[in-house]
Amino acid sequence: MAKIVCVLYDDPVDGYPKAYARDEVAQPKRYPDGQTLPSPKAIDFKPGTLLGSVSGELGLRKFLESNDHQLMVTSSKDGADSVLDQELPDADIVISQPFWPAYMTRERIAKASKLRLIVTAGIGSDHIDLQAAIDRNITVAEVTYCNSISVSEHVVMMILALVRNYIPSYEWVVTGGWNIADCVARSYDLEAMQVGTVAAGLIGSAVLRRLKPFDVGLHYFDRHRLPESVERELNVTYHPSVESMVEVCDVVTINCPLHPETEHLFNDALIAKMKRGSYIVNTARGKICDRDAIVRALESGQLAGYAGDVWFPQPAPVDHPWRSMPHHGMTPHISGTSLTAQTLECWFENRPIRDEYLIVSAGKLAGAGAHSYSAGDATSGSEEAVRFKKG
Ligand code: NAD
Repeated sequence: MAKIVCVLYDDPVDGYPKAYARDEVAQPKRYPDGQTLPSPKAIDFKPGTLLGSVSGELGLRKFLESNDHQLMVTSSKDGADSVLDQELPDADIVISQPFWPAYMTRERIAKASKLRLIVTAGIGSDHIDLQAAIDRNITVAEVTYCNSISVSEHVVMMILALVRNYIPSYEWVVTGGWNIADCVARSYDLEAMQVGTVAAGLIGSAVLRRLKPFDVGLHYFDRHRLPESVERELNVTYHPSVESMVEVCDVVTINCPLHPETEHLFNDALIAKMKRGSYIVNTARGKICDRDAIVRALESGQLAGYAGDVWFPQPAPVDHPWRSMPHHGMTPHISGTSLTAQTLECWFENRPIRDEYLIVSAGKLAGAGAHSYSAGDATSGSEEAVRFKKG
C-alpha cells in the first residue's frame, strides 16, 4: 500500500461545476509526433470534467483506492504549517501540477524519507529540486505532450492579443466607450513581423507551425537543431545564440524549460539587445525572465507588450508587479490539464515509465529530462508563494 499526496488548485469560487459550457471535448487520437495519448486501462470520469481542482482529484481516487492505496488531496502547499508539509513524512508519492506547484525543495525532500516518486500532472518539473531528487534517487516523471498543443494555441492567442491591442480595446467596450483612436494607437498587423521562439521542442515547434500561415518571418534558437527537412518545411531560420535571434525579432516567444541555464535569461542586458517596441510572450516559466527587468522595459517602452500565464512564485502574491505593469496580457497559469493515471499504473505494476515522461530516474536526468534540463535546482525563492492570500 502506498500513500499518495496530491496537491491541486482550489475549486472554482462558485463551487465545483455541476454543468459545463460544452457537452463534449474534441480529442486527437495521437500527438503530432505519432506518440499515443496516455492510455490508462480504464478511466472513471467523463472526459471534459474539471479534474485539476481539489474535488476533481485528477480522477484518481477509485483507481487508487481499489488498489488499496491511500490518496490524500489538498490545495494547502505553502509554508511550514501547510497540509503538504504535515503529510510529507510518510508519503510514498507526491503528485503536483505546474499550475499550482508544490515546490519540492531540498528541505521538503529531506522531510519525506519514504518518498520514491514525484509526478508532475502536466509538463515542467522545475518546481522540484531536481538535484535533490537525483541525490536521493527519487524518480521524477511528467506527462510529456499532454498539453503542448494547448499551450501553443495560447501562445498564438497572446501574440495576436498583444500585437493587435485586443485587451485594452475590449476594455473600452466594457466601460461603455467607442474610443477607436485609443484602441488603434498601439495596434499593428502581425503579418511581415519577425517572430522567434526560444526553444523549438514540442511547444515551440507547434507554435512555429501555427504561425506559418500568418506570413511572418520565423526564427528559433535551441540547443538541439531541428531536422533540416523541418527547417525547410517551416522556412524557419536557426540562430546559434539567443542574442542573435532577439536582435532581429519583433516578437519573441519563450518555450524552453526553466533550469539553471535558463533562469533569468531575459534580464536587462538581453532585453536591451531586442528591437525597441518588441513583444515577449512567455508561457514557459516566469523565472526565465527577470521580474523587475520586464517591468522596467515595459515602462521605458523597450518592450511594447508582455504576456504569458506563468509567474514566479505561483500563486503570485497580490503585490506582484506583473499584475499592475503597463501593456501586459497576463493570466493565471491556465494552459493545460492532464491524465497521470498511466504513469501511476506503470509504477505500481513495476513496468517502465515511458521514456518521454521521465525527468529523473536512477539518480540522474533521464528521458525528457536528459534532453531538455540541466541538473541543479531552480526552486529558490519559492517560499514567497506563502504570501498569496486567497481572494
Ligand atoms: P520539450 O522538452 O519538448 O522542449 C523543450 C526544448 O527546450 C527542447 O528542444 C530543448 O532542447 C530546449 N532547451 C532546453 N534548454 C535550453 C536552452 N538553455 N536554450 C535553448 N533551448 C533550450 O518541452 P515542451 O513540451 O515544448 O515544453 C517546454 C516548456 O514549456 C516546459 O518545460 C514548461 O516549462 C513549459 N510549459 C508550460 C505550460 C503552461 O501551462 N504554461 C504547459 C506545458 C509546458
